[in-house]
Amino acid sequence: MERASGGRRPVDDARVAAVLRLLGEGRPKTRIAEHVGISVGSVKRIAKGQHVSQAEDAEPRLVRCGGCGGMVKLPCIACELRDGPGVTDQAET
Ligand SMILES: [Zn+2]
Repeated sequence: MERASGGRRPVDDARVAAVLRLLGEGRPKTRIAEHVGISVGSVKRIAKGQHVSQAEDAEPRLVRCGGCGGMVKLPCIACELRDGPGVTDQAET
């Protein structure tokens, strides 16, 4: 299943889970990278919570906005424009 295309390759969720588990066990990132079959750079990104998942890499994930009901990327630009900047919901605190 190895592709020798080089460059950035999305890391699937199973690998991410394995990396996180091994990180939790205190394994060195280089060993984790070898074991899981991804680059050390990818392991470092996962460790920082910055890995790019396959879904995110393919296209932005759209969610249903509770404010306007549209399928949007959060934060919802339409609602931000409507509500204006700096408006906070006091009831949320
Ligand atoms: Zn909205």
